[in-house]
Amino acid sequence: MKLIRFGEVGQERAGMILRGGALIDASIFGEDYDEKFFDSDGMRRLRRWAATFASAQPKLRVPARLGPPIARPSKIVCIGLNYRDHARETGMALPDEPVIFMKASSATAGPYDDLVMPRNASKVDWEIELGVVIGKRASQVAEGRAMDYVAGYLVVNDFSERSYQLERGGQWCKGKSADGFAPMGPYFVTPDEIPNAHDLKLWLAVNGKTMQKSSTANMIFGIPKIISYVSHFMTLLPGDVISTGTPSGVGMARKPARYLRPGDVVESGIEGLGRQRQEIQPWQQRFTTKPKPSV
Ligand code: ZN
Repeated sequence: MKLIRFGEVGQERAGMILRGGALIDASIFGEDYDEKFFDSDGMRRLRRWAATFASAQPKLRVPARLGPPIARPSKIVCIGLNYRDHARETGMALPDEPVIFMKASSATAGPYDDLVMPRNASKVDWEIELGVVIGKRASQVAEGRAMDYVAGYLVVNDFSERSYQLERGGQWCKGKSADGFAPMGPYFVTPDEIPNAHDLKLWLAVNGKTMQKSSTANMIFGIPKIISYVSHFMTLLPGDVISTGTPSGVGMARKPARYLRPGDVVESGIEGLGRQRQEIQPWQQRFTTKPKPSV
């Protein structure tokens, strides 16, 4: 199954893609693709519902905005330096165990949303990554059982502001968490449609020029190891996303370094999971905190 969410930011509704490729409105199913949905065997209920009712649902009027295909997760856990070539290009040592860091879940965005640069950003960079969505509560999971916890897969671009990440002290999450820094989608794909998640081509281009091109076969730590490993440090909740690391070709490692500027267009994709496109916009204040009116 391929699931989508569509509508304005924060107002997304559930949808899906039929076998023939039509995008349909599945909001009458009555649930969002969130923690509660995954935790209550929602995928099975949705599959059953879809078999009878999906083809009769209204098709989406194009162009509809696509949101992230799952609701905002409780957390986004990222794996650093998980491709040999990428570890090498950053000049960092190959990790003995997975490097993990957090990305704020408020960074989640739709696959075609513009990327607004963070304030005073100067080193915005790209990282195409395979995102794994957790299907059930995972704590102290053995590697041999880890794939049972996968609800599905989606494309993630782990956008990064390198000056915040590497020059401001403290943890990487500073440079990983700006609004829009985690576009997801265009769709969420269940494992039955992805025969081998460890053999998917992934790529990214800036203004039409290929910057990253690799395969998930080149990951240092595979998905079972990653899920098991992370689950020993924290409980993964249904709907959580693990972004599994990026191959070589990031802007930071190019000679000279190439960072994103307003007007640049970033396109990326993963075999079987669709493609994304973001246009880079200059910083602007989008969300303001208004004082509550006094009563
Ligand atoms: Zn990354």
